[in-house]
Amino acid sequence: MPYGLNYADAEAEFNEADAVIFGIPYDHTASFKAGAREAPTAVRRASYNFEEFHFEHGLDQEPLAVCDYGNCDDFILPEDMVEEVKFAVGPCINAGKFPIAIGGEHSGTIPIIQSFEPGSVALMTIDAHLDSRDEYMGTPLSHACVTRRAVDVHGIENVCSVGCRAIGREELERDDVVPFVSSFEVFDKGIEWAVKKMLDGLKADKVYLSIDIDGIDPAYAPGTGTPEPFGLLPIDVKKAISLVGDRLAGFDVMEICPPADPSGITSILGARLINEALAVHAKNLRS
Ligand code: MN
Ligand code: MN
Repeated sequence: MPYGLNYADAEAEFNEADAVIFGIPYDHTASFKAGAREAPTAVRRASYNFEEFHFEHGLDQEPLAVCDYGNCDDFILPEDMVEEVKFAVGPCINAGKFPIAIGGEHSGTIPIIQSFEPGSVALMTIDAHLDSRDEYMGTPLSHACVTRRAVDVHGIENVCSVGCRAIGREELERDDVVPFVSSFEVFDKGIEWAVKKMLDGLKADKVYLSIDIDGIDPAYAPGTGTPEPFGLLPIDVKKAISLVGDRLAGFDVMEICPPADPSGITSILGARLINEALAVHAKNLRS
């Protein structure tokens, strides 16, 4: 384990683990501000803020066996990052364990979602951006292409996004627009309505939930490379994880940028959202 610091309470060996945490310290396609490579370490550090036990999920919580795999090796080219992440995360998914990734930029989600059998899982993102471009700045593996790469593998009926509010015209002027609910609609109609609407449209039963931290309002999550006003509330994102509930098949928190987060509050929120996903997964294992 690099840096000598595990995620809090993640002390299981890989073979005995129910959930496995991976760091993906990659930020070489970042289009606005780099620095997300430092997030896996910052979020691990922030994870020591919290109780292991979350009373709101019930008093019968069994501690989950969590393994911290450490960080994937860093590479410059996105193709090399994709191969490395598949090499690391693939065995976790094949073994039926629950993968949790800490980015790095959002492009790190691409190899994870590609590691699931085609059509076996849906991708739901929480993101200010739709990330549905065919390619961006010369690469189809950019963080602006995450949902489009998921469409390639799992189909348009297995991809959706919640909280979007910055979408390119070329993303909307096509026949296969990735289904989304904007943050404006979430504020009008509520997070329960939004997540249910998206879940009901997905064909696969299992859902991989990917949190681009810029989906949350920059007032609460300032430490990110491309902050965008009018974002979701942290409590709504917490609720969204529970609303996915027993369909949750994997989770990540991407795009935290510690150099833009001097107070550390964005990393703290990222760690708490990971704990929320772990609590929902633990609940799923119990039932
Ligand atoms: Mn984004
Ligand atoms: Mn994104």
